Amino acid sequence: MQVPFFDYPMQYKIHEREYQDVITGILLQGAYILGENVARFEANLAEFVGAKYAVAVANCTDALLLALQAVGLKSGDEVITVSHTFVATVEVIVFLGAKPVFVDIGEDHLLDVNLVEKAITSRTKAIIPVQLNGRVCDGMEKLVELAEKYQLVIIEDSAQALGATYQGKGAGTFGKAGCFSFYPAKLLGAFGDAGAVVTDDEKLSMKLKLLRDHGRGGPGGEVQLWGLNARMDTLHAAILDYKLVHYLKEWIQRRRQIARQYFQGLSALEALRLPPATEGGDHYDVFQNYEIEAERRDELKKYLYTQGIGTALPWGGKGVHQFEALGILPQNLPRTEEVMRNAIMLPLYPELTDDQVQYIIDAVTAFYG
Ligand SMILES: *Cc1c(COP(=O)(O)O)cnc(C)c1O
Repeated sequence: MQVPFFDYPMQYKIHEREYQDVITGILLQGAYILGENVARFEANLAEFVGAKYAVAVANCTDALLLALQAVGLKSGDEVITVSHTFVATVEVIVFLGAKPVFVDIGEDHLLDVNLVEKAITSRTKAIIPVQLNGRVCDGMEKLVELAEKYQLVIIEDSAQALGATYQGKGAGTFGKAGCFSFYPAKLLGAFGDAGAVVTDDEKLSMKLKLLRDHGRGGPGGEVQLWGLNARMDTLHAAILDYKLVHYLKEWIQRRRQIARQYFQGLSALEALRLPPATEGGDHYDVFQNYEIEAERRDELKKYLYTQGIGTALPWGGKGVHQFEALGILPQNLPRTEEVMRNAIMLPLYPELTDDQVQYIIDAVTAFYG
């Protein structure tokens, strides 16, 4: 049996006719930039997430960049975030001349909210919690309190957490803004790059709309501020809207089913540390990834490869602070570095069959004998 880590064409083929209809519709309509399709997707996305406004942009990196720019992040400001994230979370901080300040992660691989207060200085302006692997950081209510106490802005990197909730509240809605990615491998994937910012702040949403379109707005398209081109293509918006409306809920349920099957099949193995279980607690996780910690991780990866099973290491096996070329000074992030040594991601996407998941469980079990 072959189980690739991703299978992009498979998802396309399952609904090929429907996607073709959407694509042809847009191509014949001849309006390829912004317009009604983008607005419709924004409205549906905002509703799905539980926010008042959504602004569609070209990718989640732009979403983070524009959100930080829109809240006034300036050169010399500090932004607290984690190192166990995609480099995009941190590069946007650096790009704006601000300084990333890393805090360690907890048992569940996400920002340890209890470590944030110690990292706050007079220069701290914002906090970017990363809602990784389809889960919201534990204790977000404490983070919101801290942000109020110190007058900081929370911008969520919820690129991986569309549809996840914590205490009944959607990922992306805890702070000033939440940023989502529709990169092909994400929960809601485009056939290319796409992203969005959600917010309850109408003024902020209007500013984001100006920023993504060269600062242009109003009836005459007058330039009102320095912006750039960070628009989401209309074609992507139409496809994403179709997927969101027709399939996203079903896909999330399927992801949770697979996570449940992994949990049941693997939780007896002492060599592994699994993500939190699907049921119980304040969390509703959507399992963008199934990231486990495994003894003899590199050997396990090789063994699974010989069994036809594709796996991946998070960010290739390094936290952002561990990429030497970036010149970040050594950090005291023991838990992040432990996870980078041990973590491996098993295949998890809605198209996997129960038999494939069982095959992976059996292979992992066989490896540990
Ligand atoms: C995917 C991802 C991003 C970047 O998203 P793009 O749409 O590729 O720019 C940022 N942060 C995290 C945590 C991600 O997983």
